[in-house]
Amino acid sequence: MNLARHWIAGHWQGAPQGESVNPATGEVIGRYADATIADADAAVQAARQAFDRGHWAHDPRRRQLALLAWADALERDAEELATLLTRENGKVLAQSRGEVAAAISEVRYYAGLARHIPGHALQPEPGVFSTLLREPAGVAAIIVPWNAPAVLLVRSLAPALAAGCTAVVKPAAQTALFNAAMLQRLQSPWLPSGTVNTIAESGHAASARLVASHDVDVISFTGSTATGKRIMAAAADSMKKLSLELGGKSCCLVFEDADVASIAPRLAAAATIISGQQCTAARRVLVHESLAPAMREHLVRALNSLTMGPGEAPGVDMGPLIDHGARDLVQQRIEEACAQADRVLLHGGRGDPAMARGAFLAPTLIEHGDSSAFFCQEEIFGPFLVLETFTSEQEAVAKANHTVFGLSASVWTHDGARAMRVARALRNGTVWVNDHNRLFAEAETGGYRQSGLGRLHGYDALADFTELKHICLNAGVLHE
Ligand code: NAD
Repeated sequence: MNLARHWIAGHWQGAPQGESVNPATGEVIGRYADATIADADAAVQAARQAFDRGHWAHDPRRRQLALLAWADALERDAEELATLLTRENGKVLAQSRGEVAAAISEVRYYAGLARHIPGHALQPEPGVFSTLLREPAGVAAIIVPWNAPAVLLVRSLAPALAAGCTAVVKPAAQTALFNAAMLQRLQSPWLPSGTVNTIAESGHAASARLVASHDVDVISFTGSTATGKRIMAAAADSMKKLSLELGGKSCCLVFEDADVASIAPRLAAAATIISGQQCTAARRVLVHESLAPAMREHLVRALNSLTMGPGEAPGVDMGPLIDHGARDLVQQRIEEACAQADRVLLHGGRGDPAMARGAFLAPTLIEHGDSSAFFCQEEIFGPFLVLETFTSEQEAVAKANHTVFGLSASVWTHDGARAMRVARALRNGTVWVNDHNRLFAEAETGGYRQSGLGRLHGYDALADFTELKHICLNAGVLHE
């Protein structure tokens, strides 16, 4: 049985009580310590003191060595971590392996950046020198969801550490064991005690405490837009910096020159990645009306051909949802959508009764004309896709932009000028051309509108964990 304790001021502590469940089988696979508000306060104080001591904040080479040691430890245990990720989250083992590998690569990327945090200097008036230096922002509280707990942990924690911040990590209860296993491998002689702390909880009180605390300087939150709004309101009193990576409703725009037979399986995969539980997953396919009959046929075939089962089983394309509660909620919204849709093209259910102990849900595809329908507007976090049609580029862009979200979209065409025109017109933080769901350590990602604030990945993520200080020196000019 796996156990996850709190890590506070260098000590693993707290009695593991909360149960972690394998969503494919319903089996309890481990227990995690359930944090109180006092645990949250202790973790924040440990991070505060570690920051104020300065050994970490002022030593970029040490920070690089700590990050490189972490990457090596993760790489050594990559297979064990991927297996635990699949057992706790349900995703297909190949996806878990890919996620752990991407997380390791990203730790190494930020290890390099730790030694390149330049400022700039200028002379605004004769003899007056302005030096602008990037300084670590302080204590970062990092709230990570369960859907991609390796990459989503690393893309916040690694830039925070590279910048010189100390941290309190609050993972989702559903993947508390996996996040503890990731952080256990961060311990090394390079990491001063208290630099990174972690607490897990079954409720939200400790998380809310991190947000309200005046000793926390930055919140890096990945989760739903509804929780992001609550965090933004609660953070107002302390005026802390906010990085919010929130919900999305990604559109795929398929123009009349696209090869539907070859892209439909890729759209099906983009919609069902992590069983549709990825913020950037394909949610709406907007196709030129001339291709609609072919798209209906090929998308139904592609979605139908996906094999659903436990993530560890060979040949499986799609695992269960994260838990039974999430599955029931998603299924209810899908049923309501099917009742209102113009056409139901594929109606997914819970699948084979032999898998009833798992939180499985097969994909559903509907077609609809009115983009103001709730299922074209609301993020439904599961394997659910809406097909819509358009007759012109303008209509395609207008429909895609008809949303409060702005996380990501894709454009499918061989006309390069059209791809660039449409990509620029879409109000999204990321636009893929002839691809979907490609994310890189090096490339900033984030949301327009209600998909969030700030950017993660890339150099800008590191900058979001810094303050910019202006030091002004009136040195005067040398007169002959
Ligand atoms: P959620 O908003 O329900 O919960 C996220 C976390 O917030 C939980 O760990 C919870 O403990 C914490 N929380 C709840 N109330 C809080 C409060 N008042 N103060 C502080 N913390 C609080 O999200 P979820 O269901 O765990 O994750 C799925 C959502 O995450 C989807 O909307 C998805 O789109 C989004 N997501 C976004 C990105 C991105 O990059 N934009 C990536 C992955 C997931």
